[in-house]
Amino acid sequence: MPLTGIEIFKLLPKTNCGKCGVPTCLAFAMQLAAGKADLNACPTVSSETKDKLSEASAPPIRPLTIGVGSRAVKIGGETVLFRHEKRFENPTGLAILISDKMSDAEVDARIDRLNNLVYERVGLTLRPDMAALRADSGQAATFAALINKVKSKSDCSLIIISEDADILAAGLKVCADRKPLIYAATNANAEKVAALAKETGCPVVAKGATLDEIAALTDQLTKSGLKDIVIDTNAKSIRQAFDDQIFIRKAALAKTRSLGFPTIMFTCDMTDDPMKEALIASMAIAKYAGIVVLSDFQGHSLFPLLVERMNIYTDPQKPLATKEGIYEIGGPNENSPVLLTSNFSLTYFIVSGEIENSKVPCYLLVKDTEGLSVMTAWAAGKFVADAISPFVKKCGITDKIKHRNLIIPGYAASESGGLEEELPDWKIEVGPREAAHIPAYLKNWKPLIGAAK
Ligand code: SF4
Repeated sequence: MPLTGIEIFKLLPKTNCGKCGVPTCLAFAMQLAAGKADLNACPTVSSETKDKLSEASAPPIRPLTIGVGSRAVKIGGETVLFRHEKRFENPTGLAILISDKMSDAEVDARIDRLNNLVYERVGLTLRPDMAALRADSGQAATFAALINKVKSKSDCSLIIISEDADILAAGLKVCADRKPLIYAATNANAEKVAALAKETGCPVVAKGATLDEIAALTDQLTKSGLKDIVIDTNAKSIRQAFDDQIFIRKAALAKTRSLGFPTIMFTCDMTDDPMKEALIASMAIAKYAGIVVLSDFQGHSLFPLLVERMNIYTDPQKPLATKEGIYEIGGPNENSPVLLTSNFSLTYFIVSGEIENSKVPCYLLVKDTEGLSVMTAWAAGKFVADAISPFVKKCGITDKIKHRNLIIPGYAASESGGLEEELPDWKIEVGPREAAHIPAYLKNWKPLIGAAK
């Protein structure tokens, strides 16, 4: 039974030193009880107390890792129902289904899509994570051969799928070193599958027909010494899947330990329509699947899911920011235009994209505005002449160009006069307000002063 805030408080040093980031031990105890603080933030708590408090301070949904190395996937660890309450911690893992009954060519094509559908956005690399390998053949040797093939062609994390413990054992023989997720322990095979998970140290899925059945199964697995458990409610309709995910998250936050595990959802089993499946997967990412297994990956549906996942799992209290500096776009030279913008990543991404669209090589000066957009930064005094001019002087752009023309965003037009005073050698030009108008603006651009002959 988890401890209350008052019970936790009795175990803390009670010095109210504030080193944990909150002013009093009582406030820290309340945050611990709510799963919103990390016990390690208190430097003076004893190790005995740490042991006693570990359950109370553990996230309501247990974090666990599938796979090894740089492609390991961490899921769970969630502490809130809504992102704005704090943040969502570990992004939903996206897996592609590969069956051991598929042809070699189809398996190769799916591995290619898993490996090569990789995107850069706002300075981040977006890519899918896992291969879900299903033993449809019923043959242990065929399944093991598929696992070996995928292992040799991708370093992604693996899910191995069969309800036959012997087939799972054959699969684990060839991939236990990759710490796959074992799917699945059920009422029928729990003892055998639990033994495999214990022996290999791999995480395991508990699958049941009802939430009561799943809770009993996770209790059984936990008693057998397993901690890294993922839940599958086996929902086959969107409504049922949605209800299950909400119920599990709420129950876990209410400290129902039997349901305090990340979940897996098989959107591949819910529809044959790829676009409908993408919509279901987008719901699953938002509410609250730890892993989504898709029937296939296609760029046009995978990319929106990756962007959705990125947006949901960023910290809402920290704007995404790009590094301050000079960005060269399209191979600029000493006569190329110089544009200025803020370091809000989305602003940078849109402005740099429109510059690329223009096909006019440019320098883009990105000013550190603590991740605020141009308008917000201007209103906060972080994108005004006094702040911009020292950056322009020190950034080194004058070594790269012969002219002295600076194009500022239209939304910062009111700073043009101040900038001409602060940067007397420069001609300040007011660019478009909307990034979409940048290509037309650049195509007609000519330096007003100081162009190289
Ligand atoms: S750091 Fe520890 S002792 Fe200090 S206020 Fe926080 S909980 Fe209390």
